Amino acid sequence: MFDVIVVGGGHNGLTCACYLAKSGLKVAIFEKRQILGGACVSEELWPSYKLSTGAYVLSLYKQKFIDDLNLKKYGFEVYTKDPSLFLPFGKNKYLFIYNDIEKSKKEITKFSSKDAIAYEKWNKFWSNFVEIVNVLSLRQPISIFNAEEILLLLEEIGKKINLNDFSIEDFQRVILSDAKSLLDEYFESDELKAALSEDAIIGSYITPSMPGSAYLLAHHLMGEVNGIKGSWGYVKGGMGGLTEALRKMRY
Ligand SMILES: Cc1cc2nc3c(=O)[nH]c(=O)nc-3n(C[C@H](O)[C@H](O)[C@H](O)COP(=O)(O)OP(=O)(O)OC[C@H]3O[C@@H](n4cnc5c(N)ncnc54)[C@H](O)[C@@H]3O)c2cc1C
Repeated sequence: MFDVIVVGGGHNGLTCACYLAKSGLKVAIFEKRQILGGACVSEELWPSYKLSTGAYVLSLYKQKFIDDLNLKKYGFEVYTKDPSLFLPFGKNKYLFIYNDIEKSKKEITKFSSKDAIAYEKWNKFWSNFVEIVNVLSLRQPISIFNAEEILLLLEEIGKKINLNDFSIEDFQRVILSDAKSLLDEYFESDELKAALSEDAIIGSYITPSMPGSAYLLAHHLMGEVNGIKGSWGYVKGGMGGLTEALRKMRY
């Protein structure tokens, strides 16, 4: 007999199952496909060639899960994607964006030295937002009608960021507004704005000037790989490398 049944063996179901098993419960996981992992899988499309057939890059899977579940011991490894972007514009003009802010600033200077300076402020804006999300995502949700809980939450966030640097209006802007107006506020170079717009539209059918695109941009900046905040990475063996490690995990 089982204590818990998890329906669906995507990486979220598998992660929940691993935590439940680790806490001492007997867990069964039911998956309708022949392969575990959901959209986080590597499949052999041609003999001897395995590749990611759904999701293809990792960032949002929390380091805490990797550590808590000891996934490295079960073969999980991720290679940091750096440079994170390369944009060729023709006529020998191109832009690289790296994980290292100083290296990126040198690249940006080719298009605008004003933007290179603003890029640092841009990163600070997003790192404040991401710190708030990190606090929110690893704790139980609060009731917005409970003033005491709100104060405790603000106190918790205040330990991570200077609350004077990021207002409630900034937070609302990220959740409700568009990426273009934010990019226009910080930068003048079309090349840099084009580069940074990518994260605001990828995987969606929206444009950078549509509401919701600012949040989509945030969504792509709130992860980390190998301790580098905001970066993405390629999993060894394709995305199935993560779900295989979860499948093998013992406690
Ligand atoms: C094309 C594409 C590319 C993407 N690229 C990325 C990316 O690069 N990086 C990224 O972070 N995210 C990416 N995403 C998003 C990411 O893949 C999903 O957010 C993630 O897979 C969701 O995981 P999950 O475990 O919640 O669900 P799923 O991966 O959807 O897994 C659900 C599982 O449940 C099973 N199931 C459903 N119903 C039943 C049932 N009744 N009984 C038994 N089993 C059932 C399904 O077969 C499946 O295995 C991409 C998504 C798509 C579609």
